[in-house]
Amino acid sequence: MKGLCILGATGSIGVSTLDVAARHPHLYKIVALTANSNIDALFEQCLAHHPQYAVVVNEEKSKEFQQKVSNSVVADIKVLTGSKALEEVATLPEVDSVMAAIVGAAGLLPSLAAAKAGKTVLLANKEALVMSGDIFMDAVATAGAHLLPIDSEHNAIFQCMPADYKTGTDGKQVRRILLTASGGPFREMPIEQMADVTPEQAVAHPNWDMGKKISVDSATMMNKGLEMIEACLLFKLLPEQIQVVIHPQSVIHSMVDYVDGTVLAQMGNPDMRIPIAHAMAWPERFDSGAKPLNIFDVRRMDFEEPNLERFPCLRLAYQAISIGGTMPAVLNAANEIAVEAFLDRQIKFTDIPVIIERCMDTIVRAAADTLAVILEHDQHARVVAKQIIAEINS
Ligand code: NAD
Ligand code: MG
Repeated sequence: MKGLCILGATGSIGVSTLDVAARHPHLYKIVALTANSNIDALFEQCLAHHPQYAVVVNEEKSKEFQQKVSNSVVADIKVLTGSKALEEVATLPEVDSVMAAIVGAAGLLPSLAAAKAGKTVLLANKEALVMSGDIFMDAVATAGAHLLPIDSEHNAIFQCMPADYKTGTDGKQVRRILLTASGGPFREMPIEQMADVTPEQAVAHPNWDMGKKISVDSATMMNKGLEMIEACLLFKLLPEQIQVVIHPQSVIHSMVDYVDGTVLAQMGNPDMRIPIAHAMAWPERFDSGAKPLNIFDVRRMDFEEPNLERFPCLRLAYQAISIGGTMPAVLNAANEIAVEAFLDRQIKFTDIPVIIERCMDTIVRAAADTLAVILEHDQHARVVAKQIIAEINS
C-alpha cells in the first residue's frame, strides 16, 4: 500500500489522479490533498477519499474550510494552511508518492521538497522543472528519488525508452525525439485574425480538457516550448534533438527515433488518466478507466512542421534554452503574467509573445546555480512583464 499526496488536487490533473487512485484502493491510500482556494471541491474530495491531511493555501478560505470539516463526518482530517504546508505534506513519512499538479511557479518549492525527501515524484507541473532545471534534476539524483513524467508527451517518451531507463540519465542510442503537438485551436486560423481571439476561444482545446493556463499555453504553443525544455532536462538531450511535430489527432503522444532507424511511438486516446495510471502503476500496469483506442475510428494520422511565425512562443522557448541560465525561468514567469492578463482581457492574444520577448530582452541572464537566483529572476520578470502590460494599456 502506497501513501499518495496530491498537490493541486482540485485541478484537472488532481481530479484525474483521484479517479485513477479510487480504482485501486488496495494499492493507494490518499494521505494528503491540497488546493489553493477551491474549498467546495476540496471538501467533496475529502468526503470521498478521507485523507489524513488537507491543505488550503489561502488563509481566509482555510478558516472557512476548517469549520466545514469540523462539522462533518471527516472531522479528524488535519487542516493546514499557507504555502509552507505544501512542503510539509509533500515530505510526510507516510507519503511514498507525490503527484505534483499545482499549476505554475507556485508548485516549485513543494515539488522540489518532495524530490529532496526521496519521494516518487509524479511530475505534471512542468513550469517547476523549466524554472529550476539542473537544480531539480540534481535533487532527484542526490536523493535517489524516482521522477516519473505525467505530461502525456514525456510519459510517452519515457515508455518508448529502454526498459531499464531512468529519467535524467543518457538516453543512449536515441537520435532524437519527435514531440507531438495538437497545434491547438488556432492551427489553421488566418494569422491576421489571431489578434482578436477571445479567452473563451483560447481555452476551448480541440482534444484535451485541461486547466485554463495550460489551455492558453496550448493555443500559443508555449506549452510545446515548455515541454521541449522539459524534455531536454528529463531525457538529457540537446534542444536540436527535439523536433516538434504537429499531429492534430493527438493519438500518438510522442516518438523516440533511435540510431538504427527504429521509431517507437506511444498511442492512446487523449485522456490524462493513461499517463497518470502508467506512472502510478510503474513498473507494473493497471486499469486507468480510459476508453481503449479504436484504431478504426482514428482512420488517419497527419503530421506537419510547426510554423514559427504563427507560434512565436515556440521560437522564444528555443531561444530561452539556448541562452540558458535563468532565461527559462524568465520565459516562464513572463508567460504566466501575460496569460493571466490575457484571461483578464487586459491584453490581446498576440500580445503574449510580445511581452515575453521584451522581458527576455530586458533581463540579463545569470547562471542558474542557486534557487535564490532563480526565484529572484522569476520575480524580476513578473515585475517587468506587468510594466510592459501597463504600457500596452496606457
Ligand atoms: P488546474 O488549473 O486545473 O489546477 C491547478 C491546481 O493548482 C488546483 O488544484 C489549484 O488549487 C492549485 N493551485 C493553483 N495556484 C496555486 C497556488 N498559488 N498555490 C497552491 N496551489 C495552487 O491545472 P491543471 O490543468 O490540472 O494543470 C496542473 C499542472 O499540470 C500544470 O503545470 C500543467 O501544465 C500540467 N499538465 C496538465 C495537463 C492537463 O491535461 N490538465 C496535462 C499535462 C500537464
Ligand atoms: Mg503535454
